[in-house]
Amino acid sequence: ETLSLAARHLDPSLVDVLRILGFDKEFRSAQGSYLYDEAGHGYLDLHTGEGFASLGHNHPDVRDVLRATVDSDLADGVQMHYSALAGMLAEALAQRLPPGLDAVFFASTGAEAVDSAMKFARAATRRPRLISCDSSFHGVTLGPLSMVGDEFFKEGFGPLLPGCDRVPFGDLARLEAELRHKDVAAFFVEPIQGRMVSLPPAGYLQAAQELCRRYGTLFVVDEIQTGLGRTGRWFALEHWGLEPDFVLVGKALSGGYMPVAAMVTRREIYQKAVGTLERSYVHQSTYGRNRLSMAAGLATMRIIERDRLIENAAAMSTVLSDGLAELQGRYDMIREVRASGLMIGIELQPPSSRAARLSVRMIRMASEGLFPQLVVIPLHRDHRVITMAAGKNDVIKLLPPLTLSEPEARTFLGALDVVLADC
Ligand code: PLP
Repeated sequence: ETLSLAARHLDPSLVDVLRILGFDKEFRSAQGSYLYDEAGHGYLDLHTGEGFASLGHNHPDVRDVLRATVDSDLADGVQMHYSALAGMLAEALAQRLPPGLDAVFFASTGAEAVDSAMKFARAATRRPRLISCDSSFHGVTLGPLSMVGDEFFKEGFGPLLPGCDRVPFGDLARLEAELRHKDVAAFFVEPIQGRMVSLPPAGYLQAAQELCRRYGTLFVVDEIQTGLGRTGRWFALEHWGLEPDFVLVGKALSGGYMPVAAMVTRREIYQKAVGTLERSYVHQSTYGRNRLSMAAGLATMRIIERDRLIENAAAMSTVLSDGLAELQGRYDMIREVRASGLMIGIELQPPSSRAARLSVRMIRMASEGLFPQLVVIPLHRDHRVITMAAGKNDVIKLLPPLTLSEPEARTFLGALDVVLADC
């Protein structure tokens, strides 16, 4: 019944896809790493909506903080007011970022954080162009969409923003050829591209930062997917000692409860951007600093620290990577495993239809009760199937909760072994 309501009012193609798979369940509840259907069967969620639920689902401590905040009479940070909570969350972010990155703008979504960085960068430099990478993803509202690397997301929505151009991820010569014109406000890059879990070539990000400095271009690191412990560090930029001009944070920031994202930059850049305008702001967002988002963000960052979740992410990454390497040795269908903390891509041999078949089979096994505790359900519209695959449907992508336990990791490895043997 819920599905037919969804079909009528929401996204009919999603419901069709679910039905094709025979996966017409509704998840009634969620706790930790598990989603539960009407019958109470648990499904291990190793995708967490592209990583938004990195504390697991419905973390009780964030819930308690939210309850207390709702019951309080704290003034909100909506519109003109600055609340203490917003200052505290901004400070918590700044303390975990490289020195100097301490001017924060809070937004409601990742796309909005990207959009605001596009505006700040243009205003601060008074330059028109923005460069991003092929295969990148920065969000789907019109600003970020203009920088996104895949035509798939853009078709039908043009004309997009002028001045946005792309270079191949990892290609420094092409980047320099663009920057040399000295008309590029900012270079936007995901340190690890989320679409297919693409890792940067050695030295690439440091050299890109250096080129940006040389040509007066601001260096923007989009950590909306990689940030907050996902890669086994607070921020992925730590792996390469980067000191960007902007860091963008989102998704997991509220522990999976509230829409909140942040653009963090240097105070000089912030002030310069404002200073070039005939008004006192660059961007604004009604609910950006609302107290529930701010409280959830603070609670989330404290839980990550208190429960040593970054260390757990690194440890569980090793369990999964070792297990996947062992499977790769036995099944030539696994071409490559790419992992940084709990951001893992398992690339399968083409043709991609085999990958699609594999993921469909895993979903079927889950719904038939063979692996009642396993399901990974990203949607890929290219293929009209629910699949755990990404990109051209040949990369299985895992973004499990940072709270993942070893038995949960082994459940996945065991299931993948059975399915590979059968494919
Ligand atoms: N940037 C990156 C790297 C992302 O992965 C995403 C979302 O997947 C976004 C930006 C956009 O975030 P949102 O969906 O909150 O607008």
